[in-house]
Amino acid sequence: MGCIKCHSHETVASLSSICWDVYEIQTTIKIDSVPSLTCNNCQFVHINHSVKNEIEDRFMLVDSSKVPNSITYNQLMNQDSLLKNNLF
Ligand SMILES: [Zn+2]
Repeated sequence: MGCIKCHSHETVASLSSICWDVYEIQTTIKIDSVPSLTCNNCQFVHINHSVKNEIEDRFMLVDSSKVPNSITYNQLMNQDSLLKNNLF
């Protein structure tokens, strides 16, 4: 997949840190090790829509007030203890 900014094809898979705004608790959570593509030409970091959708879906399932201010992508995806009680 090419770079959406400079259209270079020199993109490589990378892990990035992003800041995610959680409106429900009006807080920004730092998510580390998010799968991404980095452009070797312009250094632009692209995060796939499917990854963003996964994060968004996850925040709908978990009790966001229990999510630490800094978490890794894998922790966010795997931590069942964060599930909202009222789902069960
Ligand atoms: Zn680029």
